[in-house]
Amino acid sequence: VVRTRFAPSPTGMLHIGGVRTALFSWLYARRHSGTFILRIEDTDRERSTEEATQVILDGMEWLGLGADEGPFYQTRRMDRYREVIGEFLKAGHAYHCYCSKEELDAMRARQQEAKQKPRYDGTCRNRTEPRPGVSPVVRFKNPIEGSVVVEDVIHGNVVFDNMELDDLIIARSDGTPTYNFCVVVDDSDMKCTHVIRGDDHLNNTPRQINMLKALGAPVPVYAHVPMILGQDGAKLSKRHGAVSVLQYREEGFLPEALLNYLVRLGWSHGDQEVFSMEEMAQLFDIKDVNKSASAFNPDKLLWLNQQHIMRSTPEHVAKYLKPQLAALGVNVTDDRKLAAVAKSQQERAKTLKEMAQNSRFFFEDVTGYEEKAAKKNLTAEAVGPLTTVLQKLSALTEWVAPALHDAVNQTAAELSLGMGKVAQPIRVAVSGGTVSPPIDVTLEVLGREVTVARLERALA
Ligand code: GLU
Repeated sequence: VVRTRFAPSPTGMLHIGGVRTALFSWLYARRHSGTFILRIEDTDRERSTEEATQVILDGMEWLGLGADEGPFYQTRRMDRYREVIGEFLKAGHAYHCYCSKEELDAMRARQQEAKQKPRYDGTCRNRTEPRPGVSPVVRFKNPIEGSVVVEDVIHGNVVFDNMELDDLIIARSDGTPTYNFCVVVDDSDMKCTHVIRGDDHLNNTPRQINMLKALGAPVPVYAHVPMILGQDGAKLSKRHGAVSVLQYREEGFLPEALLNYLVRLGWSHGDQEVFSMEEMAQLFDIKDVNKSASAFNPDKLLWLNQQHIMRSTPEHVAKYLKPQLAALGVNVTDDRKLAAVAKSQQERAKTLKEMAQNSRFFFEDVTGYEEKAAKKNLTAEAVGPLTTVLQKLSALTEWVAPALHDAVNQTAAELSLGMGKVAQPIRVAVSGGTVSPPIDVTLEVLGREVTVARLERALA
């Protein structure tokens, strides 16, 4: 069985780099009919906030990366961590360390002078008596000899000398457990078979492996995913554009477009660019992820968003268009009309935000015209075609696009005008501006009553 996890720290936004590792974990679990676990690593009480936790939960839900187990919260597992610390002490895998800050500083100074790497020298390893009045920390007794090999799926074997690894503090003097230790207890208790995470954690892994071994737990398969960089080669940050998942939601991206973009960063399947979620889950393999970092390309993401908007069902687009319209103050209740609007706009929008802006007139009354559009199109010359088309439309028995198309065509033919001279004034009259789907489709979706009323108003 495959069990993967996403273990974000709720200390800020949900970063798209984190989402990429979440996606890889989720896809890997899907592909192997495994279990995907969500674990909130909130032990850093000063930096963790409830708000940030909510952002993670909302973001994961919006992305559709549902957890099979969890969310688990580390802050709710404190008793379990204390229990394991006790077991480690009893088994001799850990010891109390009473060294004071001054002693540690002096140790570091000595090491610096001798040009040695700063590390805890193990003074308290063999201490038998407690120091009165001092609350000790607990340190893990890291093996002194030999080496640890991280068998990483992406990086290959990475060897660390045990001599290079400190006796890590696993409990502070107030008894609270520390980060790497909690991860180990969790990965073991949650029976994670695959740990897929950012390669900024690669240096933690040998320590975690040593602690897992002390626990008697199996060592999971590790895959350390390279970072996402900006196009200038620096670590991806706000300066390169949006990095927060919820910002992409606000800007009108489909979650599957963002995920499609992220899966392609460092992974490929032939020269295919557009993947449905099903295809990703079928084809993705963590083994095929590149070990070099990839650069973030906002234009390509935008292109993919457009592709997904075009290829989705109107109902699916409508689901995401609705909150975009709501953000503009347009509350839609007629879902069938919404789907019809989405369908008419699918080929014409790069984002759902843009689609919403260009779709307001379907739901809101047109109370004025864009100045330039009116000046050019609602002229004296337009009265003839608008009057004729209004007559023809009023006579229609069926309000469907082909009939509407004919009515506009015939008007142009009768008055010996180009199509544009007829369609554009109609467009301005019904939408207030010059941007809309094809005029026949636009009128069909608007319906007879609204169309007639808006044409009459333009003629008045
Ligand atoms: N909480 C860590 C982070 O947000 C992830 C740790 C892990 O995946 O092991 O970077």
